[in-house]
Amino acid sequence: AKKWVFVQPSKGFPKISDFKLEEEKLRPIEDGEFLVEAVYLSVDPYMRAYMYRLPKNTTMIGGQIAKIIESKASEFPVGKYVYSSSGWRSHTIINTKQLSDGIGLPTILLPDFGNLPLSLGLGVLGMPGNTAYFGFLELCKPKQGETVVVSGAAGAVGSHVVQIAKIKGCTVIGIAGSDEKGKWLTEELGLDYFINYKTQNIEEELKKAAPNGIDCYFDNVGGEISTTIINQMNTFGRVSICGSISGYNATETQKVSSPYFAIVGKQLTLEGFLVTRWNDKWLEGIDANLKWIQAGKLKYRETITEGFDNMFTAFTDMLQGKNTGKAIVKV
Ligand code: NDP
Repeated sequence: AKKWVFVQPSKGFPKISDFKLEEEKLRPIEDGEFLVEAVYLSVDPYMRAYMYRLPKNTTMIGGQIAKIIESKASEFPVGKYVYSSSGWRSHTIINTKQLSDGIGLPTILLPDFGNLPLSLGLGVLGMPGNTAYFGFLELCKPKQGETVVVSGAAGAVGSHVVQIAKIKGCTVIGIAGSDEKGKWLTEELGLDYFINYKTQNIEEELKKAAPNGIDCYFDNVGGEISTTIINQMNTFGRVSICGSISGYNATETQKVSSPYFAIVGKQLTLEGFLVTRWNDKWLEGIDANLKWIQAGKLKYRETITEGFDNMFTAFTDMLQGKNTGKAIVKV
């Protein structure tokens, strides 16, 4: 078995020396335990944010889709697949008495995805999918005809929110870091207006794209981009604060622009959330997303890196925006 050990929090952008790839010999399983072998592992932005809180020299956290290869727990039979928060490990012994660890997501037997790939359990039919589904619908409460802005729009969560907003009959503006991503969003996912934050002036583009202002903002990035967007929101607009990846690799306290003047003046509702808030409705979210995929209303993309030894590369590629849709490692 192999695992990636997190040595120390990175200063600025993560370095390979902040991690160690180690071999480990696992003990035999006991009653109430089962052994899984990772098939797909997830690399996610939250891992970077959580690095500051993790104890040094522990296994890196993260979710994976794994196959049960030995079992002394009847609810988890050999041959079935689970989603588990086992971290960056090739093999893991899981105790049925401790099914929730890492970031608080439960270990579950993977629901039946029909003919769809199992890897979707890490993306559109897993944590990012539920983040988009609940985080957008419950916090932004989008209404038909409203204007919605999504930052980080070509990523796992963002590309999903864009499509739910279209399903709800909104005009949708997406912001991401390359024209290629913009082409995918507009031509294949039905995005109404794309803004490349690396080459375009967001403030001016928003004025053109949303002449009547913005009603909902789904925020994946925080920082300067979000301040610019929030400043152009309509009275009683709603902001779902999902993440702030623009600050995750900051070296020191950076000068952060502040949207508070607009928040007060326009009486906006801003709400942060953790997707674990909806753990009790988890399968409901997966089922709704699955039905949309099957109806041809929800598309997805995955950026797959091959090989467990390439976890670190996949992680830093994602942090640099080399992924479109969900970033995944295939063992
Ligand atoms: P993505 O698939 O969106 O991957 C990250 C993307 O972020 C990159 O592809 C890159 O795309 C973009 N990015 C990187 N640096 C910057 C920057 N400085 N400014 C703007 N964009 C940048 O990841 P996820 O969909 O998994 O996550 C998206 C967000 O949602 C993150 O902030 C994450 O922390 C948050 N999240 C929150 C959850 C919750 O429970 N609250 C649960 C899951 C995710 P580009 O080319 O556009 O730069």
